[in-house]
Amino acid sequence: MAGARVESVALGRPDLRFPFPERFAERIAGQRIETLSRRAKYLLAELSSGETLLMHLGMSGSFRAASGIAGADAFHHPRSKLAAHDHVIFDLVTSDNEPARVIYNDPRRFGFMTLVEAGGRDTHPLLKDLGMEPTGNRLDGPWLAAAFAGKRTPLKAALLDQRIIAGLGNIYVCEALNRASLSPTREAGTLSRRGPVAARRAEKLATAIREVIAEAIQAGGSSLRDHMRTDGTLGYFQHTFRVYDREGEPCPTPGCGAPVTRIVQSGRSTFYCRHCQR
Ligand SMILES: [Zn+2]
Repeated sequence: MAGARVESVALGRPDLRFPFPERFAERIAGQRIETLSRRAKYLLAELSSGETLLMHLGMSGSFRAASGIAGADAFHHPRSKLAAHDHVIFDLVTSDNEPARVIYNDPRRFGFMTLVEAGGRDTHPLLKDLGMEPTGNRLDGPWLAAAFAGKRTPLKAALLDQRIIAGLGNIYVCEALNRASLSPTREAGTLSRRGPVAARRAEKLATAIREVIAEAIQAGGSSLRDHMRTDGTLGYFQHTFRVYDREGEPCPTPGCGAPVTRIVQSGRSTFYCRHCQR
């Protein structure tokens, strides 16, 4: 899509999670996509008009390229291709002057798209308060300690707070805390105390966050499956999960093996090991 000109946009319905903005297709058609980037969980396509197309995959959204472009499939992991769930179709002419079609498919429609006005990226409600990128080099122990200083909230809540670290969701927070041997119920501010113990904990957590995200990207993410399990429930790809959705199973920390516990924090499931996560 980067460098391509949008010939037309076809919408299969008036909304996804939210209604499309006014004249959505008309405002994109005819524009060139100057850059493609990401901020937190948002995909951003900067248009030649100055507006930015902001896209969020929700739980089950995916893009696929229906074109003869070599290598286009390399970016697509197996997901739904049911035409009934193809909600947005971008017809493009690539920078190599090839026609291409990019299709947004979303069975559960928790994803959404909107347009950010020219010059509005820093002030847009969805973007202006976002915190540190978890994959950036600046996320380390001292930074985390400073960010959590004085916070009485549980670590789980502090890590899910998108104003502190942007883009960490429930699964990866559970996974990172298990690797770092830290309890999700521990006060976040305890990582900011003076002395080497707190500093080591903060460093270990920062490292765990970066590793969990890097491995998840390598594995193709952990999106909700499009297809039901045989018992009718929806499940996540969980090939690499240590504790998430593993209540009662043994903790994989070497030498531990205690059963994984599930608790509810702020209305969401937390999975952790009471034995080795303190
Ligand atoms: Zn354990």
